[in-house]
Amino acid sequence: MQAARPERIGFIGLGIMGRSMALNLMRRGFHVTVWNRTRARMEPLLAAGARGASSPKEAAREADVVITIVTDSPDVEQVILGPEGVIEGARPGTVVIDMSTISPAVTRRIAAQLAERGIDMLDAPVTGGDVGAREGTLSIMVGGKAEVLERCRPVLEAMGRTIVHMGDHGMGQLCKLCNQVIVALNLLAMSEGLAFAAKAGVDLEKMLAVVRAGAAGSWALDNLAPRVLRGDYRPGFMVRLQQKDLRLALDAAGQMNLPLPGTSLVHQLLASVEAYGGGDDGTQALVQVLERLGNVRIGPHSKEVERWAMEGSTPTG
Ligand code: NAP
Repeated sequence: MQAARPERIGFIGLGIMGRSMALNLMRRGFHVTVWNRTRARMEPLLAAGARGASSPKEAAREADVVITIVTDSPDVEQVILGPEGVIEGARPGTVVIDMSTISPAVTRRIAAQLAERGIDMLDAPVTGGDVGAREGTLSIMVGGKAEVLERCRPVLEAMGRTIVHMGDHGMGQLCKLCNQVIVALNLLAMSEGLAFAAKAGVDLEKMLAVVRAGAAGSWALDNLAPRVLRGDYRPGFMVRLQQKDLRLALDAAGQMNLPLPGTSLVHQLLASVEAYGGGDDGTQALVQVLERLGNVRIGPHSKEVERWAMEGSTPTG
């Protein structure tokens, strides 16, 4: 007999991604109880009809499925296994779906501890950015038991369009790290293309219009390059989170003796964004490193351009 569609969702972590994902669940008719460490971030969800919980434990108590999307491995451990954590409130049969990007090894450890209490876990990290979260078009890569994924598929379908079972616990996270390697190099490709165009005096808008439609097209060109041209460095995905993911990818690659020279380079270049105080900026801020390296102006309001303007020197390009 097929298990009933899970109806009650506990949702933990209402950051850039989580708040849109929780709203999409509510739009599909799920009963959502939210918890966020900073309570003020719960307000828009409560106004939209969600119930509020005072702890992850309370968010889990009535839930069929508990979703977590917080920052890093220790944060997921804390909200699931820590004091007042999900594990204290969840009943046997509850499914915990962690949609954060974290260490595959930590994921396997959390899954094992939950299993001792009869609680199933899926690692289900996502890609598609803030835009995909808002539009409910995320790609979701899933690790854990296939039958648990099938039970939870309607929940994931409220947030994403492409949902693929990758294998056992941790395989979703490993797939996400593949994604991050590719994303990082697309970001560098976009940044170098824009720097080259700016220095050569090519019209950036026209270049993007024609290049996006051809073999060089990418998510970065469609979604991030227009932000650069507007001088918009607000985060869809923060530099410090990209750095966390590249550290995870480089660690895993190191354990396999697999060189990832391009990924290492992007990691080093983004360290320069952090050194200039841009860790909370969006990853499109990588173009600012190329502006500094090449003495070229790309976006209209990058911090570096503002500094040049204050110092009275004129960047070329
Ligand atoms: P974000 O805006 O910084 O949100 C992070 C959330 O985690 C906030 O709700 C924060 O609570 C919560 N949090 C962090 N540490 C916590 C802790 N120790 N205990 C309780 N809550 C904690 O980040 P985001 O962009 O939504 O990213 C969330 C996850 O999704 C990350 O793993 C990221 O790598 C992944 N991801 C992001 C994107 C993207 O484009 N943004 C795309 C794919 C995957 P507070 O409000 O209290 O700070």
